[in-house]
Amino acid sequence: MYLQAIPIKGQKYKVYMDETDHYTLGYCDKNDKKIVISNKCPKDKFIATLAHEISHAFIHECFLDQTLDPTQEEIFCEIVSCIIEQFGDFFLDLKEIAFSLKAVQ
Ligand SMILES: [Zn+2]
Repeated sequence: MYLQAIPIKGQKYKVYMDETDHYTLGYCDKNDKKIVISNKCPKDKFIATLAHEISHAFIHECFLDQTLDPTQEEIFCEIVSCIIEQFGDFFLDLKEIAFSLKAVQ
């Protein structure tokens, strides 16, 4: 199921929910500019999984995948995923605060 396209460093990545193999909740196909989240992904893991796969796309579009080895890339993506999973609500609060600050200026 196609969800939407998201811009990543000037490239549009299409996000889908679809079948994946049994061992992964999602993947990023950098050549086809496609992110797939497993349709078996638990709802409470959806945001973290999407953040992880978006991180892979960012790494690719910033050419960091030319310097990071696959293990380093996975660690980086997991760190981003954990930050979003644990502090996502905090960032939303900050967005509201930032919006209200802009309104004052
Ligand atoms: Zn990964």
